[in-house]
Amino acid sequence: MDLVGRNEFVVEEFPASAAIGNVLGNFAVPLGVWGIALLLAGHAVLPGYLSGLKVHGPYLILTSGLLLSLAFRRGRAFFVLLSLTLAYFAFVFVLERENSGVMSQTVYAALCVFVPFNIAIFTLLRERGALNAPGLRRLSLPLIEVGAIAAIVLSDAVEFTDALYRPIFEHASLAGIHVPQLGILVTVAAVVIATVCAVMRGSVIDAAFAAAAASFALACNGLPSPGAFAWFCTIAGMIVAFAVLQDSHRLAFYDELTGLPGRRAVNERLESLDGGFTLAMVDIDHFKAFNDAWGHDVGDQVLKLVAARLQRVGGGGTAYRYGGEEFVILFAGRRGASVMQHLESLRANIDSYKVMLRDSGRQRHPVAGNAKPASPSINKWISVTVSIGVAERQGRAETPEQVIADADKALYRAKSEGRNRVV
Ligand code: GH3
Ligand code: MG
Ligand code: MG
Repeated sequence: MDLVGRNEFVVEEFPASAAIGNVLGNFAVPLGVWGIALLLAGHAVLPGYLSGLKVHGPYLILTSGLLLSLAFRRGRAFFVLLSLTLAYFAFVFVLERENSGVMSQTVYAALCVFVPFNIAIFTLLRERGALNAPGLRRLSLPLIEVGAIAAIVLSDAVEFTDALYRPIFEHASLAGIHVPQLGILVTVAAVVIATVCAVMRGSVIDAAFAAAAASFALACNGLPSPGAFAWFCTIAGMIVAFAVLQDSHRLAFYDELTGLPGRRAVNERLESLDGGFTLAMVDIDHFKAFNDAWGHDVGDQVLKLVAARLQRVGGGGTAYRYGGEEFVILFAGRRGASVMQHLESLRANIDSYKVMLRDSGRQRHPVAGNAKPASPSINKWISVTVSIGVAERQGRAETPEQVIADADKALYRAKSEGRNRVV
């Protein structure tokens, strides 16, 4: 293939990759925790021996969340949890002690505005960790906010406090709401931004940020009852902490490029199977040459497209990215003969699928010594094929490693018999 003076190509057509199921899954835990918190609010009566949780529970959960996000290098979650922790301190040291006066009014309004504001900001920022130079710069946001609150309180600058409480819109339904309207506005913005980001990025942490902003608004609105503030503020922290765990689990078990579960996931699944199964090893044909011809980025896109097709294989198969351009499809409890037709139609489906490459307009540097001119700007149709090796286990006689080795051997035969086939 011509490697010289060629334009760079991008895959023209690409299916909406963030599957709806995936996005809904990201909201399941945050909304589930939130729902349980709403049901329990006001009903949760702790037995005597657990009464300490009322005092220590919020610290326990917020500090666990902070430590988890540091350990897993989730800086955005760390700063949202830090904002919630500072809010909880403000509640314990100011709001719980006095509920009138400039100090408590300023602190209350500032919490209602700053915490959702921080959630919106940290949703929009890129993940860059916490214990590093970008993290230190980001730390200045909550510090400036604490400083601003202290400055307003110490200088008795009531005009700033008044500004925080100034009504923005009039509506009868807002009458029973304690949160200043500016706080409502910022909360709505934070929830919308985090929800949109959660959907666009398929990110569980962004989904948690949306739920945490809503939970914190409930905390603020419930403040006339101190228990309600502590409860919903803690729940907001718990939602973010859970998301950090979920996100790290996904990192460990799912492949970032294709979104398929990865090698660790297939190994665990195989160990958990008691009975028979059929395993197919799928390998893209001549993929090295494909990369050399079209560039690694196009290669990546095509990997995603192939993965999306593998994911829809029939016969109850689950697709995994085993590594590089190799995939595994596992049919638990199925005999080889019963899945062959599904694998054959998968192979044919990939074979017949044509991807349009659009000239991105950028030129690659021609290799020195070759004077061939760059090709003119054109769109091209390309396709790839896969070879599939299949092996089955009927009982517990063989270990998963042996079955994988058998599938590998079958794959090797598929390659040597001419590729683009199921063996
Ligand atoms: P065969 O038909 O025998 O399988 O030929 P092949 O070129 O596909 O086989 P080989 O295993 O030698 O090459 C695999 C290539 O897959 C090497 C590498 O360029 C490419 N590859 C592996 N992982 C990735 C990836 O994540 N992205 C891209 N773009 N290419 C990858
Ligand atoms: Mg290959
Ligand atoms: Mg290979």
